[in-house]
Amino acid sequence: MKIIAIGRNYINHAKELNNAIPEQPVFFMKPETALLQKNRPFYYPEFSNNIHYEVEIVVRINKIGKYIEEQFAHKYYNQIGIGIDFTARDLQEIQKKKGLPWEIAKAFDNSAPISHFVDLSNYKDIQDIHFSLDINQKNVQTGHTKDMLFSVDKIIAYVSQFVSLKIGDLIFTGTPAGVGKVKIGDRLVASIEKEELLNFEIK
Ligand code: ZN
Repeated sequence: MKIIAIGRNYINHAKELNNAIPEQPVFFMKPETALLQKNRPFYYPEFSNNIHYEVEIVVRINKIGKYIEEQFAHKYYNQIGIGIDFTARDLQEIQKKKGLPWEIAKAFDNSAPISHFVDLSNYKDIQDIHFSLDINQKNVQTGHTKDMLFSVDKIIAYVSQFVSLKIGDLIFTGTPAGVGKVKIGDRLVASIEKEELLNFEIK
């Protein structure tokens, strides 16, 4: 399996990092070794002093596809979860300045904590879902999938022109504003429609 992550998909977040608003979805990938499951703790890595949280709705692909048309994209997923796209912001800033790839800042081990997955039939519309992240019981990010620059179906249509999608692949759909640093001892709790799905500690 692979993890495809979308950058700059919420305008308020692109602006907070002074990034341009993209005309096409921006995507990057994380390997399977980035997954962190079952609310296991995240161990702060030695190579960064500025690990940022980014809470994101995660879509699980349930059908193989390539060149998927937007109008049929909804047939390629039926579950969502919530995840954190951990980013070594200090390393990413250096890469961005040099015009180099982001993997060093985005694809490291355990950089993708995810919840269990919930059937989409529990929600009325994938583009009408509220989600949030609390750290130490204080809300730091709230998002609404209506505000995505590129809808889930548009993302699938775009990405599948370049990369075939397979069963079990995950798409991190971008983060709203409010990203920031984590520190050792923090407890992160992420929810979809106020239901707590992810709850883990930084160690
Ligand atoms: Zn992200």
